[in-house]
Amino acid sequence: MRVRALRFGEDVKMARVGFIGLGNMGGGMAANLAKKGHDVRAFDLSADALDKARAAGCLPVASAREAADGAEAVITMLPAGAHVEQVYRESVLDVALPSAILIDCSTIDVATAKRVAEQATAKGLVAVDAPVSGGIAAASAGTLTFMVGGSNEAFERARAFLADMGKAVIHAGVNGAGQAAKICNNMILGAEMIATCEAFVLAHKLGLDAQAFYDIASVSSGQSWSMTSYCPVPGVGPETPADRDYQGGFAAALMLKDLRLAMEAAESVDAEVPMGARARELYEAYAGAGNGARDFSGIINMLRDKP
Ligand code: NAD
Repeated sequence: MRVRALRFGEDVKMARVGFIGLGNMGGGMAANLAKKGHDVRAFDLSADALDKARAAGCLPVASAREAADGAEAVITMLPAGAHVEQVYRESVLDVALPSAILIDCSTIDVATAKRVAEQATAKGLVAVDAPVSGGIAAASAGTLTFMVGGSNEAFERARAFLADMGKAVIHAGVNGAGQAAKICNNMILGAEMIATCEAFVLAHKLGLDAQAFYDIASVSSGQSWSMTSYCPVPGVGPETPADRDYQGGFAAALMLKDLRLAMEAAESVDAEVPMGARARELYEAYAGAGNGARDFSGIINMLRDKP
């Protein structure tokens, strides 16, 4: 890693970073690395994403291979496991420097995360899974939480880069543990959001004012993140996507993706997840009715209308 002269009060190590996948999340993350002084070689299949990356201080390159070649860290932020496996197989594993750290920040299935790390190890390379909590706003503000799966040494090497894109970097365990933490966390979130929504719906039908119910539940045992940080009722609690007609925020389609990954993982280890399974069914119904792009808290409208 090359080190440039530090400005007063600054602790920035400038490194060559290959960044592959510049979508809603990756675009902001790559921009933050560039802002911190890294030499970011960025690639995406979309020309528009490449233009935005250039405007944000990255150097757009012509292929994923070119992004990975010579990089000290190769970061991927792609839609699903199949994309990550393909990009690693065709563009990363053959060209990465033996000293490079490979960091996949996408949310993918645990099995693929482990397999990709094994393929990297077989080539003498070091890889971690590092999925994120926090949405598009956190990606562009540099306030993501990263949950990292990999060896102690790999974690330390990845941390230097992840810290430049987030507010917390946590070592979850061995390869695959980051993805396990991510889907278990989001399985809680999906079930908890539905429970919060149905409580507001029932409270309303029982004649309770939403604000009065919020004032009570938010300081009682019904309190949760879905209640006090992301209240699904417009005009109640802090400003949330509910106040913007459920636009922006965390799309129901992405919640459904994470719940499906959680169910797949639960099946692979024979775990009982009845609440997670029901949450997946309800998000399947909500997203399937044309609401996939709406914020996941919008499921309150489906519950009001009785599915
Ligand atoms: P996105 O669809 O906006 O971006 C994915 C990008 O990958 C696209 O720009 C696409 O062109 C690019 N891509 C696909 N295949 C490629 C390839 N072979 N080579 C290069 N680029 C390729 O998705 P996103 O919202 O940025 O999400 C990325 C990942 O982060 C997903 O795994 C998602 O589950 C996870 N995530 C998203 C959020 C969120 O709020 N959006 C929050 C947490 C985690």
